[in-house]
Amino acid sequence: MDKKNNSIIMQILVIVVGLIFSSIISWSLYNMEEKAIVIEFRKDVNERANSLYREIIINLETLHSLSILFNSESISEFQQFRIEAKRILSRHCDIQALEWIPRIKHKQRDSYVSQQRKEFPKFEITERKKQKQMIKAKKRKEYFPVYYVEPLVGNETAFGYDLSSSPTRHATLKNSMDTATPQATGSITLVQENAKQKGFLAFYPIYKENPTSVEKRRENLKGFVLGVYRIGDIFTSSSSNNEPLGIEMSIIDETSPNKSEILYTHKFQDGAIAHEKIKYKKMLPKFWGRQWSLTASPTQKYIAVKRSFLPWVVFIAGVFFSVFIAIYIHIMAKRTNVIRNIITKKTKELNRANRKLKKLSLTDGLTEIANRRYMDKFLTKEWIQAIRNKSPISFILIDIDFFKLYNDNYGHFKGDECLKKVASKLKTMVNRPGDLVARYGGEEFAIVMADTKNAQVIAKKCRHAIEKLQIPHEFSDTLDVVTISVGYCTIFPRKDNNSSLIIESADKALYKAKETGRNKEVKASI
Ligand code: GH3
Ligand code: MG
Ligand code: MG
Repeated sequence: MDKKNNSIIMQILVIVVGLIFSSIISWSLYNMEEKAIVIEFRKDVNERANSLYREIIINLETLHSLSILFNSESISEFQQFRIEAKRILSRHCDIQALEWIPRIKHKQRDSYVSQQRKEFPKFEITERKKQKQMIKAKKRKEYFPVYYVEPLVGNETAFGYDLSSSPTRHATLKNSMDTATPQATGSITLVQENAKQKGFLAFYPIYKENPTSVEKRRENLKGFVLGVYRIGDIFTSSSSNNEPLGIEMSIIDETSPNKSEILYTHKFQDGAIAHEKIKYKKMLPKFWGRQWSLTASPTQKYIAVKRSFLPWVVFIAGVFFSVFIAIYIHIMAKRTNVIRNIITKKTKELNRANRKLKKLSLTDGLTEIANRRYMDKFLTKEWIQAIRNKSPISFILIDIDFFKLYNDNYGHFKGDECLKKVASKLKTMVNRPGDLVARYGGEEFAIVMADTKNAQVIAKKCRHAIEKLQIPHEFSDTLDVVTISVGYCTIFPRKDNNSSLIIESADKALYKAKETGRNKEVKASI
């Protein structure tokens, strides 16, 4: 039962340990895989940020080629602007508009307006009251209106719009003018915007000559070549065909250190939720006075698609392996049990056979009483015991009288029968645990009696008992029946002698009994 319990505990232990190990290994594989995916994700975001930056720069660079038109002494005609702008727009579809913003002093306002009205009768220098509601610009020292715009279609609202009427735009154009560097605005809602998309403007300043100081620049500024961009469109154009699937990205304007603004968020329509724990921000290089970053989170789907089955395969294999080992242990335990039962059964049989064999080896086959070998052992043991206890041992040696004649006349079979009868009779003469009746050899018997002094009584009793058996023996010289002669001896065993002394003494006494007429008991003289 204990062994069965042990085997069940072992099986449970194997399964539990197997489960723990498989879980640990598959969990670490799972984590390793996630780390690799995160590295890949960052690489994707870096690439995406690079392509976005490239797209921005390409778009802004178009202003440079357009600026060449206005750098010459005479300001370009609208037609020239139109041709060049169209050429650029045909290649860059994500530019909302290209514009020329002249600087118009108040006294020039009317002549500029009337000049433009030749072609566009409704032209006016405007400002915004609210989104999509434009009104005539208030009187100012100078104006920066959208004077040329390409394409006009879709940008009608912006046509004539005085950029200096908006503080954001004015701040940027002033910065561009003073530093003689192209500058981009922060996020603005375009006057021509219908959707909620955010945009920005990029100013490219044009001066007379090449002014080197702020004063000279303010004095010599002719105007700005302006690019109008929608952030979402730039983001979309910058994406390549193999756009990484499932990354949620936000473009953030971080130009002002304490106020960052989300410009555009690229979300997924399939309802994939972004993995909030994994966030990565890639700073774009600074351009035209702006510092943008791309902040990205992968969607759960992005990670799921890149995951392999390996952690699961390892886990399932681990579970199968432990269950297999547990089953193997179960089968082995069962087999061991069967073998153990067989061994126990065989051992019992063997012990039984051994006991039988031992009994046989110590028993006389004919008379079924103890044999000589057993008697020797028994006597030696009792001898040692008697030395320890300082107690006496009596030994009686018995020999059937004229047995040769009995055999010769009645036959061997009868002789054997006679021996059996004598043996079983003698066996009844003693009954204490320290007594033993044995066949000493041929037709001789011996009786050992531990802790017994009075051997004569037993010797006599034996002789009378055999005589009383009345086994006919016509050829005996003593009586007509089988008789015995007996020699007996009692000794206190000591360390300086051994058990053969008592046998020899009894034998001598028996010899004497034979010599002096048989059918008698003689005490040994020591
Ligand atoms: P004694 O009175 O002097 O003892 O005369 P005896 O004839 O008995 O003399 P002895 O000891 O020489 O003879 C013993 C005989 O016992 C010899 C043998 O034939 C017989 N004998 C010994 N063992 C067996 C046995 O197992 N079966 C039979 N039937 N006879 C045996
Ligand atoms: Mg004899
Ligand atoms: Mg004899």
